[in-house]
Formats: sequence, C-alpha cells, structure tokens
Amino acid sequence: MIIDSHVHIGCFGRYDMKPEYVIDSMRRYGINYSLVSPLTGVEFGPDHTPLPDDWAYDQITANEEAIAFARDNDGSIGILVWCRPFREGFNDRFAAMVDNGGKYVKGLKFHPYYSKLPINAPQTEPYLAFAAERGLPVLVHSANDEYSQPRFVYEAAKAHPEITFIMAHVGLMTDNNEAIELIGSLPNLYGDTAWVKPESGLRLIQKYGAHKLLFGTDNPIDGSDTYAHPFYKTYFGDFRQWISPDDYELLMHGNAERIFDI
Ligand SMILES: [Zn+2]
Repeated sequence: MIIDSHVHIGCFGRYDMKPEYVIDSMRRYGINYSLVSPLTGVEFGPDHTPLPDDWAYDQITANEEAIAFARDNDGSIGILVWCRPFREGFNDRFAAMVDNGGKYVKGLKFHPYYSKLPINAPQTEPYLAFAAERGLPVLVHSANDEYSQPRFVYEAAKAHPEITFIMAHVGLMTDNNEAIELIGSLPNLYGDTAWVKPESGLRLIQKYGAHKLLFGTDNPIDGSDTYAHPFYKTYFGDFRQWISPDDYELLMHGNAERIFDI
C-alpha cells in the first residue's frame, strides 16, 4: 500500500500536469491513493510575473475541477484544497465549496511562494480557523525563499496546536537541517518527502521517529515518470532496508491514513 500525500493537477507555465498523468503514473508505479491539489490555484505566474489576463481559474473553479477529478476516481484520489489568501481570501463561497466536496476534501494547501504571502500572515488566519473547525490538516510548501521559510510554518503550527501541519519539502533548496529540527520540536508538525534527499528523510526519522514523515512527491510535475527520479526510486527501494518494516509502512501510507483520515 502506497499513499502519495503530495500530488498536483493543472497546467501552468512550464508545468503540464494533466489528470490522466496522475492516474497513469499511479497505475504503473503501484500508488494506491493520491492527495491532489490544483496548481491552477496559483496567485502569481512563474517567477512572480502576473497571471495572464485570460487566466481562467479562481479559488472555486480550480478546486471544483479537482474535486470532480476525485469523484471520477472514487477511492483513489483525495483533494487538498488550494487557498488564495492574497487575491481572494477566505469567504462563504470557499467554505461551501469545501463542504460540498464532502469526503473528497482531505485538507488545505498553501503555497507561500505562489501567493507571495507567508503561512503565518494575518490573511491566512480565517482559513486556519476554518481548518481547525472542520478538523482539516494543512499542507504548506516550504523552501529557501522569503515567503516559504520553514520557520514560518513552525510559527503557524505553534500558534495553532489544534491543527496538523505538514511542512512540504522539509525546506526545499536547503540542507533540510533547520526544517528537521523545527518538525521535531512540535507534535502537530510533520514533513513530506517531496524532493527530499533520502538521506535527509532518514535523518528526520532516526532523530524524531517515522510517525513524523509522509511519502510525497509532487507527481506528475516531471511528467508520467516523476516516480523514476533517483530520490523516489530510493524511497521505493533501498529505503526499505534502512528502517524497520513498521516504520516503512508508516512512511509510505500509515501516517497519511492517520492524519488525513483515509
Ligand atoms: Zn507541490
């Protein structure tokens, strides 16, 4: 059993992540369930250029397209709803969209870089209050840019002990060390393996336990064979020998089942 907790659909800039690539790659690489968020929820273009004038997506349409995809693939797709705190903000339509999504909605997703807004900014508060109310976990992109710092995710998680936060990428474009320490220091903060060197994933598990890390990949960001990347090959393969069988099961699906109620 394998659950990928960090998957996307949506075409944007150089990214071409058609829903069929998700289904096709899941079948070929033996992934049983994917937590998908629509990249069409971005608030800025590549390198913070403005979105095209004819950009077709807002917070509702981007996520409703994803929820329809989950409905069409009942039992193998769950949705992490992409939030747009910069341009739109939390409102009744957003709440209704999540509630109408019912069992297909598994959590919220924030991308601080593509929102030009840190997760601990005041504009995210109403979303987080809603996540707390509905018991929805929150996945946050983390990286070495001014909006996506791992310590911002830590600060949001510290301010909201009732919400489970997943710090995606464990600090992309860093040596992962600061992010690992931050994840280890709060009970409601976790990491995922998306573009995380297997050695860093192992370090996190050895230091703080296998319950703290979820298998995730950004599939199909490099196309239908994103899972063939050496990092993911290692997580599928050698990593099995690096930790106990029970810990491996937690990493590959158990943690996601527990956190996202799958
Ligand atoms: Zn991602």
